[in-house]
Parts: sequence; C-alpha cells; structure tokens
Amino acid sequence: MDGAAPFYGGIEAGGTKWVCAVADVEGGLLATEVIPTTTPETTIRAAVRFFEGHRPLAALGVGTFGPVDVRPGSPTYGRILATPKPGWANADVVSPFRAALGVPVRLDTDVNAAALGEWRRGAGMGLGTFAYMTVGTGVGVGAVVNDGLVHGLLHGLLHPEFGHIRIPRDPVRDPFTGSCPFHGDCLEGLASGEAMRRRWGRPAEHLDDPSAWELEAEYVALAVVNLTYTLSPERIVVGGGVAKHPALLPAVRARLLTLAAGYPGAPVPVGQAAMDEYVVGPSLGDRSGVAGAVELARAAGPAPSSPRFR
Ligand code: ZN
Repeated sequence: MDGAAPFYGGIEAGGTKWVCAVADVEGGLLATEVIPTTTPETTIRAAVRFFEGHRPLAALGVGTFGPVDVRPGSPTYGRILATPKPGWANADVVSPFRAALGVPVRLDTDVNAAALGEWRRGAGMGLGTFAYMTVGTGVGVGAVVNDGLVHGLLHGLLHPEFGHIRIPRDPVRDPFTGSCPFHGDCLEGLASGEAMRRRWGRPAEHLDDPSAWELEAEYVALAVVNLTYTLSPERIVVGGGVAKHPALLPAVRARLLTLAAGYPGAPVPVGQAAMDEYVVGPSLGDRSGVAGAVELARAAGPAPSSPRFR
C-alpha cells in the first residue's frame, strides 16, 4: 500500500441484485453500485471492476444469499450450495475476489450481514443479544447472541433457517396451503412476499386489502413471539420489502402482546412505548446488508480500529 488510507469493500449478494459498496476505515459508506444478478461470471466481473476503481482496498466482506458454505477451511467454503437459481449452484463467491483483488475476503449469509450492519451501525448498536428478521421474497433471521453472530452446524456449513419454522395456520381463515416447495405452510411459505403474491394474486406492494395485512401481521407476530422465547433478544429488527408496508409493524406489536398472553417468563415488553422500541424497522433502511458486509471486511482487514467479533 502506498500510504493512502485504505478502502473496505462490501457486497450484499442477492438473488436479483448485488449491492456493492466501499467504505472508509471507520465503515462510513463512500460509494455504492447496484449490479443485476445474472450469471456468476458476469456478476462477479462487474463487482470486481467496481472495487478495482477504489484502491488501495484492504479487505472485502460478502453477505450472500444461500444456502452457502460459510465454514472457513471447508473444501467448499464460499460456494453457494443447492439453489434453484439457474447457474448459481456450486458458484464460488469468494475465490474469484481473492484472486482478482488480492485481499482477504470474509463471508457470511445475507441475513447475518444485515444483522451485523444493524448491530454495528443501526438499531442494534450496543445490544448483546438481538435479532434481525427479513420479510421479503423469502423470510430469514440473523441473530446476535452474547456479542457474537449465530452460526450453525459445524460452525457454518449449515446455518439457522428460521424462515422454515412451523407456525399454526387456521385453514378457515387462510385456505392458502403455503408457497414453500419443501414444507408448504412454514413461516416463509405463509408470510413471504412470494406467499402473499400467490395467495392474493398480486405482489405485496400492490396489496391494500386490510385483511391481507392483518393476516400477514399474524404470521410475523407468531415469528416474533417464537424469536422472543428462543433467544430472549433485547430488540427485534424487522426489515425486507414486505415489512415496508406502514400497517405491518404496528399490527405486529399489537398482536404480540396478545400472543404473549401475560406469561410471566416472557421478555415481551409491556406497554406501547416499550413495544415500539422492541419491534422496530431497520435504521439503515435498504443498506443494512451492505453495511454489514463492510463490517465483515473491517473485521478481516488490518485497520487498527477494526472491530472483532465471533
Ligand atoms: Zn419451508
């Protein structure tokens, strides 16, 4: 390096678009670029070109859609595992960047990156245990427990798949049997944007029917109460495209109090003000994931102020 302050790079690698960003040593975003997700070769080449324009680059963080092998040292580390997305099964989202940019690359799942972004720079700052749930095309959760990101089996060969938990469905109120190709009416099969589109015949952003959003709030509240009882988080951030609808979070908060049913062991906050602080939208808006990816890079890089975390 030539003495200039280095940049840190981050990629939120999604199924429809990749958001790339470079940040300063403190993690402040300086420039971003959105690249459509096409083939692995074309998408990665475009991302490399973006980062080549920002030298010296100290490290890169990648938060990717999955399932993905995030276990360092594994022979398939950095590879997307079985995915229905054409061309992406077995795609390597780490090695091409190491080779082209010559920097350390740290990888995690997209929801863990979003959780990390909100934990370090957003609504989860200073909290030891909190959760980020995305309700978008799919449903997923990234969690911080005791000051570390939660990974799963074999330290990340597999990772938690909270989107596929089972939640009760009343077949009279909701005859739709769910959109999950594996489980039908799991959480994602009932509450994702894809589930809403198939149940109501139009995408969530074009749905105004209050009963549609009441039902959605029921499912998201069930997810939130399950997260509450399993992790006892200090706060739950609910992000993703579906969660942008203004009616959703207020209805989730109201339903949560009823679902908790006054159970004395429940850490569900009592009172509207406390509830407003407990279930919140992302403070970083659409940038939680890429900000988290930059934090992965800062943790991998040489900057003296780099944050360390598990
Ligand atoms: Zn499922």
